[in-house]
Amino acid sequence: MDALVEVSGLTKRYGGTLAVDGVDLKVLPGEVYGFLGPNGAGKTTTLRILTGLIAPTSGTVRVLGGRPGDAAVLKGTGSMIESPAFYPYLSGLDNLRLLAEYAGVSRQRIDEVLELVDLTDRAKDRFSTYSLGMKQRLGVAAALLKDPELVILDEPTNGLDPAGMRDMRRLIRELGTEGRTVLLSSHLLGEVQQICDRVGIINAGRMVAEHNVDELRGEQELVVRATPKDT
Ligand code: ATP
Repeated sequence: MDALVEVSGLTKRYGGTLAVDGVDLKVLPGEVYGFLGPNGAGKTTTLRILTGLIAPTSGTVRVLGGRPGDAAVLKGTGSMIESPAFYPYLSGLDNLRLLAEYAGVSRQRIDEVLELVDLTDRAKDRFSTYSLGMKQRLGVAAALLKDPELVILDEPTNGLDPAGMRDMRRLIRELGTEGRTVLLSSHLLGEVQQICDRVGIINAGRMVAEHNVDELRGEQELVVRATPKDT
């Protein structure tokens, strides 16, 4: 089975800081892969490299068989890295329409993604009136517009209240159930246990371990040492 994401010996240096230090990572088709680690571990930096936003210092990176930033790779990948930027005085629907026009996406697809993220009822309300959870879900909707094979989400539940977290986790599980490949980052062990098939643990830029979620239960101590406890 060809990996959709294949990273080998990845490093990223910022001046004297080695943000990513020799990361190897493979994400297989159809899996929900969790990239787990505390703040500053190197998760966002790695995901930014995978989506072509920044270049690595060294290492090889293949996404959907190509290089990040290649047109075909961008077409097949939907991502939400950090908080998505939307126009506050436009509705959720109009924000998606603007993006859809740019990406050549149909009106029907906009309706589909709004339904998927459970925002159909609030689609015509201004973005500024949305809760943080709804804003994040609109971000996922934007990532899904092109019907991508691979979805990359950077800490999608960060800052959400319990209800917002529950809705976002349910949505991510749905993406996995419909066969989409998802790579997400999180600093919450309980969260990746709930929604992921496989987990890579990163600490201080290095991959400390990789586990199937079932195996993770036996490795609580290792994980808790590397990451703060779930809240
Ligand atoms: P968080 O959950 O806080 O986003 P993270 O695991 O995503 O954490 P990164 O944001 O990738 O971690 O940061 C890894 C390290 O690289 C940190 O020490 C951070 O300070 C540093 N770093 C990240 N971006 C830059 C930058 N643009 N310039 C300098 N240092 C950076």
